[in-house]
Amino acid sequence: MQDKETPLTLTCLICGKTLTAEICIDSRITETDTLPEEYNDTDFLPLEAIEMTSYGHYGTTFFDPCDDGTQVAALICDNCMESRSERLLYIDKQRRLKPFDATMKELDEKARADRAAYEATTTCLPPQEIPRDEDGYPDVEYVDRIVRRLIDPSDDESRSQSE
Ligand SMILES: [Zn+2]
Repeated sequence: MQDKETPLTLTCLICGKTLTAEICIDSRITETDTLPEEYNDTDFLPLEAIEMTSYGHYGTTFFDPCDDGTQVAALICDNCMESRSERLLYIDKQRRLKPFDATMKELDEKARADRAAYEATTTCLPPQEIPRDEDGYPDVEYVDRIVRRLIDPSDDESRSQSE
């Protein structure tokens, strides 16, 4: 049981560097060491690190609680991920295992080629700069207008004004 006086120390599995993390519940950052019951990939946010979890599985003798819902977790800092990326695997949407570095390079080249092809064929203007509030967040009224337009394209104030 975690002693409330000494906060849980988070460290990189590889280099042992102390890490910090935020826990986000209902879109709010909270001070807690308990994650929400409903699994959400955005609730635990280690800063400049990746959280890797496992429920255990057949084949390991290290951690296999037989699907009782408990997990082992490791945090690995971005530097350690980067410097060992040749050892990583990438799993694509079809669940195929691939070498991480080669796949990232391939995806990056494809994205560049797609962008170049798009830029060569499009004549549209660059996307409009999103207005920001004094804290740097997107302007609420602007976002609200965009969302309303997405939900109902006929609800376009500029269009209704010009008609
Ligand atoms: Zn590290």
